Amino acid sequence: MKTEVIKIDINNISQEKINYAAEILKAGGLVAFPTETVYGLGANALQKEAVRKIFAAKGRPSDNPLIVHIADIASLDSLVVEKPPIWEPLAHKFWPGPLTMIFKKSSVIPDEITAGLDTVAIRMPVHPIAMALIKASGLPIAAPSANSSGYPSPTLASHVYEDLNGKIDLIIDGGKADVGLESTVLDITVDPPLILRPGGVTLEQLRTIKSDISLDPALANEPETDFTLTSQANLNTDEFLKHKRRDLQGKFIPKSPGLKYKHYAPKAQMVIVDGELDKIVSTINNLVQDIKNSKKRIGILATEQTKDYYKVDTKGNENIVVMSLGSRDCPEEIAANLFKRFREMDEQKVDVIFAEGISKNGIGLAIMNRMKKAAGFNIIKV
Ligand code: AMP
Ligand code: MG
Repeated sequence: MKTEVIKIDINNISQEKINYAAEILKAGGLVAFPTETVYGLGANALQKEAVRKIFAAKGRPSDNPLIVHIADIASLDSLVVEKPPIWEPLAHKFWPGPLTMIFKKSSVIPDEITAGLDTVAIRMPVHPIAMALIKASGLPIAAPSANSSGYPSPTLASHVYEDLNGKIDLIIDGGKADVGLESTVLDITVDPPLILRPGGVTLEQLRTIKSDISLDPALANEPETDFTLTSQANLNTDEFLKHKRRDLQGKFIPKSPGLKYKHYAPKAQMVIVDGELDKIVSTINNLVQDIKNSKKRIGILATEQTKDYYKVDTKGNENIVVMSLGSRDCPEEIAANLFKRFREMDEQKVDVIFAEGISKNGIGLAIMNRMKKAAGFNIIKV
């Protein structure tokens, strides 16, 4: 299949181009388009053949349900059978925007969308190109992130092209996705509502509407590291380093549930170092020192505050790449850069990435959620 790419200027949206893309959706085709979270891969949510094409193009497991995107509140009524009262203040405050709400689904929603569940995830995006496209199609649009399943989500049209060229009909290049992380998924079929996936709308923001909104306990109990360090001193124990080396050579298989949970991931193996900032830096410096002679290319995902503290001595360092995710004072900037940096590290062909942990406040919760999944839950606590 030939994948066409068209540019649409977010400040001067061509209705002609939007209509062209909408016709492809109406005919059952696949169109990637920008949203404020990440690029989405759109299809007619009411047509199961079109929805199946999404799973095929992405290589997405069929048990992972899709989010349905709408452009006006009136569209909700035919898609759901029940609207728990909390939906209204939430929609009033956060729609259009990066909040997805889970409702009991109506019979017009094909099972392919919901992976057989009796609930459906619905979002109204704020991006003007996404809005215009959904409106022009006159359809609810199923749109997961427009990446190959498992890889980092796309925040630029070029990322979509890298992953899906030849597999979809059209890519709309509308510039960068501002938030850079996916929407917050909130289950409102239960009381109190539960965040199933942290994202662009923060827990703190949601609690301004209902103070007992909580995180799904499964998120709080996510598996963590096989390498937990209780003190800096432990870092130098022979046992740890042996562990670490085996891991970095790909021979060490993390304990249950291991790679099954890996997602959003760069090709390189990633290890998060989390804790006090000075210890993060010294630990990463030690780890780099430890494997420097192994001829592996090493990436360091640092922040503006720390990037100059990685000791890159003058000899034998062509194998070390340091990139900044952004400023710790502006986690929104880190969110916007995260997936792009993962892809840039892959372009640099690094074998291993040491990434700094960041605070879980605000959007930091979503950032750390994606980083942990990308790292297959390899986290060193310092
Ligand atoms: P993506 O659009 O690729 O960012 O992924 C959609 C996310 O929404 C996935 O994490 C799904 O598991 C989640 N999701 C979609 N529908 C439902 C549902 N009915 N119940 C719970 N989670 C859902
Ligand atoms: Mg996705």
